[in-house]
Amino acid sequence: MISNDIQGIGMTSQRTRDRLVDRLREKGIKNERVLEVIRTTPRHIFVDEAMAHRAYEDTALPIGHGQTISQPYIVARMTEILLENGIPDVVLEVGTGSGYQSAILSRLVPKVYTVERISALLQKAREAHRKLGLMNVFSKHSDGSWGWAPNAPYPAIMVTAAPKTVPPGLLEQLAVGGRMVIPVGYTGGVQELKLYTRTAEGIEEETLELVSFVPLLDGAIR
Ligand code: SAH
Repeated sequence: MISNDIQGIGMTSQRTRDRLVDRLREKGIKNERVLEVIRTTPRHIFVDEAMAHRAYEDTALPIGHGQTISQPYIVARMTEILLENGIPDVVLEVGTGSGYQSAILSRLVPKVYTVERISALLQKAREAHRKLGLMNVFSKHSDGSWGWAPNAPYPAIMVTAAPKTVPPGLLEQLAVGGRMVIPVGYTGGVQELKLYTRTAEGIEEETLELVSFVPLLDGAIR
C-alpha cells in the first residue's frame, strides 16, 4: 500500500513534509530539535489511507470514533513547552489518539507513557508505533484522568484532550520541578492552553494561548 509506505510519495513525500516544517517555523515554533523530529516522522502513518494526502497540512484530521489527530502546530508547540527547561527522563501523555504525539515525544525523550480510553484507537496507535520501530512508548487502555500511578511522579505530563477543570489526580502525579501542559475548559470547543509547574512551595499556573481539543471524557470503552 503506497500511502501507508513510511517513505511516502507525492502528497506524503519528504518535500511535502519539509514545507510543513517551514510553515511551523513561520508560525513561531523555535525548537530546532522538535522541528527536525516533525520533519522526519511520517504523519501519514497515523491517519487512514483516505486522509493520507492531507497528512502534511497543518490541520487536525479525523481518526474515527469522533476523535482527531492534533494539528502539527499544536503538537510542536506543546512539545516545545514541555521541553523548555531541558529534556525530562519520561513524559506521561493522556489521550494517545492516533499515537502521533507520542511518536514525536518518543524521539525526543527516553521514555513515553501514554493512556487512551478508546481501545480501538489504542490498537491502531500501537500498530503505527510498531511500524516505525518505536520501542520506548508504553501504553495503557484506561481513563487517563487518574494518570498512571505506578510510574508517578512525572517530570512532564501532556494532556491532549480538554477537561472542564484540571483533574486533581494528574496534578498529584507531577514531580517537584515538573511541568504539565493541558487545555482547560471546553465551552464552545475552545480552551486555554495552561502550563502547571510544581515547585517546592506548590503549584504555579500560566495561561499560554487559545486552543481547540476534543473533550477529556470519563471511563474507558472498547
Ligand atoms: N495525542 C493525540 C490526540 C488525540 S485526540 C494524537 O496525537 O493523535 C484526544 C484523545 O484523547 C482521543 O483519542 C480520546 O479518546 C482521548 N481521551 C479523551 N478522554 C480521555 C481520558 N479520560 N483518558 C484517556 N484518553 C482520553
